[in-house]
Amino acid sequence: MAEKLTIDNISTFCKSKGFIYPSSEIYGGMSGFFDYGPLGAELKNNIKQAWWKFHVQDREDIVGIDASIIMHPNVWKASGHVANFEDILVECTKCKERYRADHLIEEALKIQADGLKADDIQKLIEQNKIKCPKCKSALDKPGAFNLMFQTYVGPKQSKESIAYLRPETAQAMFVDFKQVVETARLKLPFGIAQVGRAFRNEISPRNFLFRCREFEQMEIEYFIHPGSWEECPYVDEIMDHEIFVYSAEMQQKKEKGKKMKMKEALSDGIIKSPWHAYWLATEHKWFVNLGANPNNFRVRQHLPDEKAHYSKDCWDLEYNFPFGFKELQGISDRGDYDLQQHIKHSKKDLSLFDEETKKKIVPHVVAEPSQGVDRAFLVFLFDAYNDDKERGNIVLKLNPRIAPVKVGFFPLMNKLDKEAREIYNCLRKLFVCQYDKSGSIGRRYARADEIGIPYCVTVDFDTKEKKEVTIRDRDSTKQIRVQVSELKNVLYRLIVGEVEFEKAGKLIK
Ligand code: ATP
Repeated sequence: MAEKLTIDNISTFCKSKGFIYPSSEIYGGMSGFFDYGPLGAELKNNIKQAWWKFHVQDREDIVGIDASIIMHPNVWKASGHVANFEDILVECTKCKERYRADHLIEEALKIQADGLKADDIQKLIEQNKIKCPKCKSALDKPGAFNLMFQTYVGPKQSKESIAYLRPETAQAMFVDFKQVVETARLKLPFGIAQVGRAFRNEISPRNFLFRCREFEQMEIEYFIHPGSWEECPYVDEIMDHEIFVYSAEMQQKKEKGKKMKMKEALSDGIIKSPWHAYWLATEHKWFVNLGANPNNFRVRQHLPDEKAHYSKDCWDLEYNFPFGFKELQGISDRGDYDLQQHIKHSKKDLSLFDEETKKKIVPHVVAEPSQGVDRAFLVFLFDAYNDDKERGNIVLKLNPRIAPVKVGFFPLMNKLDKEAREIYNCLRKLFVCQYDKSGSIGRRYARADEIGIPYCVTVDFDTKEKKEVTIRDRDSTKQIRVQVSELKNVLYRLIVGEVEFEKAGKLIK
């Protein structure tokens, strides 16, 4: 990450290049809502597809669903969201600004305040004489605020027709559990995944995409046999994976945390469950494989006050944003809480039959990797953004697999427009391409760098005679010559990372 790059820099950059705009801007915008522009929509889709491929299609043990956003209102009663999905709100007595109380405390006192109750917050405000950060007046008594967006279904607006926009995608994996298991013929351990929109009426949306009121999630509920907490068949894959670990004990002792291999974290009892270690490392690997800087991440264990009462253990994968280490993904061990809640409220049998013991069992969720798409989008942008002083332009070093445009096509001169277009028209059916014939070649390369196009193909006079083109690599600016007949194949191998750039053609010295 470039030094001193702020969230405002990224937001301005995104707007100027067509990645993201504030929603409904011509009407003054709406806080917490954003529109993804042409490049943003491509990048976001690529992130979601890469997630789906890695977590669902490339694995035998995870299947995906795509459930409706509005579900039966009893789903949210059973899950506890109607009663408890709240943040503590505190209002200024004078300017009436409203704050999310835990964030206010965290900023004023530099302590972890997630999970504190209204009474504890009131005490901290009084003891530390915390005032309204905006006008310095006294703050009112804190109170609970439910984050669910409520709506009505059907033409009658009555108590009976109240429904909710889902605040998370997760509940559908429990509600559809039995049908998914039966139709996909799943055997434990297995996961059910979903990518989709979620809505939360956040008290104070801020930090651009980090905290929005409408966002997307990529979530997995991973189920195991209740008695197999220690048996993770995949754990060997991650034993040597290294990550910065920040356990609850380290936080309580005001220590700094430690970079360690997963095998060390497990053998020292810092991470207790091999499943947890597996999912934390796997999620970190997903980001790193797609070009994120491994050193900008840490895994942080929830403090006892922070975790839900039913959760055995919970770790967050965090990223070092310019505004501090913040949650990217929560990975919680939820036990059988959710399935039991839905069994109780729906009165349906959601248990599975254990062939060995010939008894019914209710599987446990050993991990619930729950990742926000928009926060992942920010991570990839932060780690790709390079203000290259030598080139005099921004170079967005996105991994080619997620880059919104894969190939730029430039005729060296306008005279070569016909030849260049012919090749472009052929290849744009295979990759997202951009054609650019205006301005000097240098200017065109700079424009391509700024939006992260990894490869640019220049059509020159030799293209006609020798049937060759030049490919320029965004990150090194090196160039190779390749045969037009080979171009499709070479570009594909470069994009998926199958070949090194210098070995993909004749290097131009
Ligand atoms: P936070 O403590 O930051 O409010 P949370 O613990 O409430 O997050 P979860 O309920 O665990 O978040 O949601 C899972 C993931 O969904 C988060 O890790 C994050 O990536 C994403 N997410 C949650 N709320 C938002 C939001 N308001 N805007 C964007 N992404 C979000």
